[in-house]
Amino acid sequence: MKVLKFGGTSVGTVESLRNVKKIVENIEGPSVTVVSALGGLTDRLIATARMAASGDLAYHSEMGAIRERHNLIIDGVVREDRRESVRETVESLLDGLARLYDGIALIGDLPEKTLDIAVSFGERISSHIVAAMIEGADRRDSLEFVKTEKWFNRNIADTALTDELIRKEFESNPPVRAIVPGFISTDRDTGEITNLGRGGSDFTAALLAASLDAEVLEIWTDVDGFMTADPRIIQGAQVIPAMSFVESMELCSYGAKVIYPPTIYPVFHKNIPIRILNTFKPETPGTYISDRDSSEADGTVTGVSAIRNTRLMTLRGEITGNVASINTRTFNAMARNGVSVLLVSQPDQESGFSFALSDIDSEKARKALIEEFAPELADGELEAIEELHELSTLAVVGNNIRKITGLGARMRNTLSRSGIEVAAHCEGTSATTVTLMIPREETDRAMRLIHSLFFGHE
Ligand code: ADP
Ligand code: ASP
Ligand code: MG
Repeated sequence: MKVLKFGGTSVGTVESLRNVKKIVENIEGPSVTVVSALGGLTDRLIATARMAASGDLAYHSEMGAIRERHNLIIDGVVREDRRESVRETVESLLDGLARLYDGIALIGDLPEKTLDIAVSFGERISSHIVAAMIEGADRRDSLEFVKTEKWFNRNIADTALTDELIRKEFESNPPVRAIVPGFISTDRDTGEITNLGRGGSDFTAALLAASLDAEVLEIWTDVDGFMTADPRIIQGAQVIPAMSFVESMELCSYGAKVIYPPTIYPVFHKNIPIRILNTFKPETPGTYISDRDSSEADGTVTGVSAIRNTRLMTLRGEITGNVASINTRTFNAMARNGVSVLLVSQPDQESGFSFALSDIDSEKARKALIEEFAPELADGELEAIEELHELSTLAVVGNNIRKITGLGARMRNTLSRSGIEVAAHCEGTSATTVTLMIPREETDRAMRLIHSLFFGHE
């Protein structure tokens, strides 16, 4: 069995949906197809909810445009004899959405829970349209089997319960051509509608692939494969024909938006390969991600990525002799609060310990550090918690790159020759990744310089 996922870029227009139909109908054997909302719709649903909450009556015309876009898509892709019935289903969902927006406007407030309901309409509707468009398809409802739990105010997937529920659903009624809405889920305790985070349809597909022991997970999108860098920034970015799970996980965690980072873990765990393919050029080979064992191979660079909006936090003080404990306590405090540490830098143990994190996590991180190190801050062992803002974290990922001599130095020299100052770096701790922090306004230029260092000029 195959699990496929088509992102918003593939379900945005009548033309792209016709490609989806061809691809799915050509599969021999059973398949499960996960779909995102129509391209750009999730952003629009959020913007419209905010308009309604702020009393901007233009939310009515936005709602009208959302209705019209869905109706045009239905007319363009669904067989005439099925159109009436799918239009009725979609109209009734859209009526529900319009009522929700009216409610938000009336209250003048937009709690997270309500926003989660508003955004869920994107995938709930698109999956009905795709199921009506594809011959022999049946729609399965992920609200019934993708479950989340609350973790420090965030909704995270309850993978064990989801696995059990997916198996139950598909064992009692084996799929032929199942269509599943991506991204959306329900809280395991309250039953309220939640989601897996922006870009989360990839994760829905990975959870299905893992639970159903799929032979492959195909991520269909709008580029020819996983590329050596974001093609919107680097024109000369090249398709990577094959890479390991770990390399793809690292590139995605450091900003390569082509796959939502949590996606890789469930299929990696089950050793199910991923293919990244282009909906608009189905014949191109794309990228094959698998568990290739190349631990003995020479070091090679696979790709470059960057996360903007990051900062460096430094615990300033004389921590010599206490380094391991400070590190462990910091990591534990961050993990407990759901903060990801992007890079650790300790050039000089005499004066402190630094780590990088996303701007959005900084408030939580600062609070957690102040709490964790209250005694050390009080007795002066730690002098201060300092922050360096407006940085980007750039990652170079590859296979055994630790074996490449002087890699970090070459990168730093390349940047400094062009006047880009490196605020922090981390190399030698990971076999796959070297990370650097640079001023945010230099991100694109730094990406170009580093990309051409390894892959030649554009
Ligand atoms: P979808 O709607 O299919 O989920 P996304 O926009 O989430 O599509 O992801 C695909 C986009 O990811 C591409 O259009 C590309 O601009 C961007 N991207 C960023 N980094 C990379 C990379 N290294 N390789 C390929 N695409 C990348
Ligand atoms: N529609 C959701 C989003 O835009 C989920 C996804 O596309 O994967 O984030
Ligand atoms: Mg995506």
